Amino acid sequence: MSYDDQNVFAKILRGELPCTKVYEDEHTLAFMDIMPQCDGHTLVIPKYPAENLFDLPSDVAAHLISSVQKVGRAVKTAMQRDGIVIMQLNDQSAGQTVFHLHFHIMPTSLMALGSQQHAEKIGDRQVIEQCAEKIRAALNAS
Ligand code: 5GP
Repeated sequence: MSYDDQNVFAKILRGELPCTKVYEDEHTLAFMDIMPQCDGHTLVIPKYPAENLFDLPSDVAAHLISSVQKVGRAVKTAMQRDGIVIMQLNDQSAGQTVFHLHFHIMPTSLMALGSQQHAEKIGDRQVIEQCAEKIRAALNAS
């Protein structure tokens, strides 16, 4: 399938839709998931228009993984978690719902995730912003 630039993350990248940003560099953007599966649920996306991991050139993938590590460490610190889940879905048949490549950073466990629906309920804006503040602070301190 070819990349559809009308997906919500492409619109966020172009500034056509808002997001609660926690990190940005030349190659990547990280922001809070609007339907979090746990407090602190953060998404990291490449600026490169790739639908899934297999569409991403390796050199761009290296930048993306570097940002996933950086933001992942900050989420761990901010949410005071030892263990976190990092998830990435490829294709609708795997459950992907937004067709711009993204990594989910979720400060929770696989067991706790099992009882949470994926991308189903809009989260509390205030809680999301409070988590974002903590993550930004951890990033600034890193
Ligand atoms: P996927 O199912 O593709 O792996 O994950 C897509 C994620 O994007 C879901 O967790 C969903 O909650 C999140 N999401 C969908 N629409 C928006 C949006 O407009 N803004 C933000 N911040 N997250 C979104």
